[in-house]
Amino acid sequence: MSIATNIQDFQKTLPQHVKLVAVSKTKPNADLLQAFEAGQRIFGENKVQEMTAKWEELPKDIEWHMIGHLQSNKVKYLVPYVSLIHAVDRIKLFKEINKQAERFDKHVHVLLQVKIAEEESKFGMDPAEARKLLSEDTLSKYTNLTVKGLMGMASFTEDKEQIKREFTQLKKIYDEFSESHNFTTLSMGMSGDYELAIACGSTMVRVGSAIFGERNYE
Ligand SMILES: *Cc1c(COP(=O)(O)O)cnc(C)c1O
Repeated sequence: MSIATNIQDFQKTLPQHVKLVAVSKTKPNADLLQAFEAGQRIFGENKVQEMTAKWEELPKDIEWHMIGHLQSNKVKYLVPYVSLIHAVDRIKLFKEINKQAERFDKHVHVLLQVKIAEEESKFGMDPAEARKLLSEDTLSKYTNLTVKGLMGMASFTEDKEQIKREFTQLKKIYDEFSESHNFTTLSMGMSGDYELAIACGSTMVRVGSAIFGERNYE
């Protein structure tokens, strides 16, 4: 199987309303180019420096998504060219993204990351916190960013029922606020669980190893 074939398979099988983020972290530019030539335009990275380096080298009509945990002090390097930041999970980060967006005269699209995994996970707002933030509409004062929807990661488990419970929980919060916030994007599902995520209402899947093969971390 080649990267191009994998991309074409996803293009054929994903429902029309589901966007594919090709998660290219740790992969060389040559691999991204193969996916690009097969028609892929959205790429996801989890490190600011790696994304910046790839952005410089690769075609400018790529949409870059930051999918990983983001430190406030890195936001300024990202804002000039990022299309969507998936993992915004604290007010401090909203403030910093808005500040840098003002500085660069940009409007930045973000997703609110919600903690849905029953296993201990480090990142994401608790569902209660997320509901509070969205219902108070505190976010509308950040004029240079828009929350386009929610992002979540299910537990790393073989238990399909548990994963389904977790995705369903996120979809429920999404539905509660979708109209009032004009949401467009529910980012959930990775290589191992994207089919289940789509069945549970995902509109954007983040797929890495099923496209590019296993990653080698140094
Ligand atoms: C690495 C990563 C993915 C892709 O994982 P695969 O299992 O390789 O598809 C998706 N989302 C996030 C947040 C990631 O860090």
